[in-house]
Amino acid sequence: AEVNLGNVRRNLHTLRRAADGSAIFGVLKADAYGHGAPAIGRTLERAGVDGFAVALLEEAIELRDAGIQKPILVMGGYYGQAWGEVLAARLLPVVYDAGQIEGLARAIRFADRDPVKVHLKLDTGMARLGVRPGELAHILDVFRRFPEVELDGLMTHLACADADDPSATRAQLELFDRMCADVRAAGFHPTVRHAANSAALLSHACSLEIVRPGVALFGVP
Ligand SMILES: *Cc1c(COP(=O)(O)O)cnc(C)c1O
Repeated sequence: AEVNLGNVRRNLHTLRRAADGSAIFGVLKADAYGHGAPAIGRTLERAGVDGFAVALLEEAIELRDAGIQKPILVMGGYYGQAWGEVLAARLLPVVYDAGQIEGLARAIRFADRDPVKVHLKLDTGMARLGVRPGELAHILDVFRRFPEVELDGLMTHLACADADDPSATRAQLELFDRMCADVRAAGFHPTVRHAANSAALLSHACSLEIVRPGVALFGVP
């Protein structure tokens, strides 16, 4: 698809105002929704975006190979055993199960690296991937056992932020709040939380430390 990079810059500035102080991680999954992730990424980085989010490890590595320096969050969680690549490309992995934490910890030990920050994905109603409330205590135990993996962020995905009725999103955000409080009560101190996609950001449904707009970068709110 043709894309006007000037429009992408303007859309970022519009989102910056809506974000009201939250950091903006531009979502460039699926080759930036077909617009070409390397060019879009470089444009956003020069325009002052705070970070990027992609679905797949390969998408993150493509952005690094294109010269992108800002943090890159890998949201999908399909790493296989490619933890060495996560470390080499200095990525910010999203995790949601014990095997991922253990695999990453072993890679960090093997490479004799400093601890690596990760974000934990919480399932608040999407029924896809993520830690459910009943599983939270167990996953926090796993983090305790592997201190090389530092729980620095908490995220969730809002299933229906673009629906007319905001009640489902409100319920998800309330559950997210409670789970974040449980994490802190368990003695962890993640520095960032994020939930909002484009629809949630533009409807001011939530403003946490980070927002994750994708489609709105291309002017299709
Ligand atoms: C795709 C995606 C986004 C961005 O969604 P838009 O509707 O394109 O803004 C944010 N978070 C996650 C987890 C996603 O998968």
